[in-house]
Amino acid sequence: MSTDTAPDAVVEFRAVSKTYPGGVAAVRDVSLRVRRGELVAIVGPSGSGKSSMLNLMGSLDRPSAGHVLVDGHDVAELTDREVSALRATRIGFVFQQFHLAVGVPVLDSVADGLLYAGIPLRRRRARAAAALARVGLSHRVHHLPHQLSGGERQRVAVARAVVGGPAVLLADEPTGNLDSASGAAVLTLLRELHASGTTVVVITHDREIAAALPRRIEMRDGRVVADSATDPIGAHG
Ligand code: ADP
Ligand code: MG
Repeated sequence: MSTDTAPDAVVEFRAVSKTYPGGVAAVRDVSLRVRRGELVAIVGPSGSGKSSMLNLMGSLDRPSAGHVLVDGHDVAELTDREVSALRATRIGFVFQQFHLAVGVPVLDSVADGLLYAGIPLRRRRARAAAALARVGLSHRVHHLPHQLSGGERQRVAVARAVVGGPAVLLADEPTGNLDSASGAAVLTLLRELHASGTTVVVITHDREIAAALPRRIEMRDGRVVADSATDPIGAHG
């Protein structure tokens, strides 16, 4: 595995571009590092390439050019099966739509986040219960998704994303479908997870949210036009 990367880099882009079939250049020559323990906001107008970049970070997509390293692994050097395993065990996703299975109790939805890990059902459920406690939903473990508020559903999705102890939690507009109070609660949760050691990258177009986060990467037309990191890529050769 090519790992001449910073030892604490969880995600690294080296001159990454993504051009979709049809010719849309969604990400253009982006280089950056996200280090272990960071909390990063990605901001920018609609269509600027934020989701494309997050999908590349999460190995949901492969770059058209350049290299994406996740947790030290160059995604280009992995087979599809290895990429799936990397994604399932090292990356947690949260999306604007909560993506909870209809009719599945939340405890099982969260426990399913561990299917890849080959853990027996009883232990999956125990770890799911612990993750639900972390997001403040111990009193809702037997509820079905339709019995929960939007904010609660998103907290379930966060629990599912972190139950396996991922190297990085990637959230794409996690507050986009929530009223402001529920959105603020989800953001507080992400900050708590960050405070307890989780690396978090969150896309948001909420300026207030972004302004409160320690690092902001601003995108426009597929390029990073600003990065508030005090130690940008290249600073250490
Ligand atoms: P953002 O999340 O900032 O709104 P996206 O990454 O979703 O931006 O999109 C960036 C650009 O890429 C847009 O022009 C969008 O239409 C285009 N795009 C996104 N996904 C696809 C796709 N699967 N196929 C073709 N074009 C896409
Ligand atoms: Mg998007």
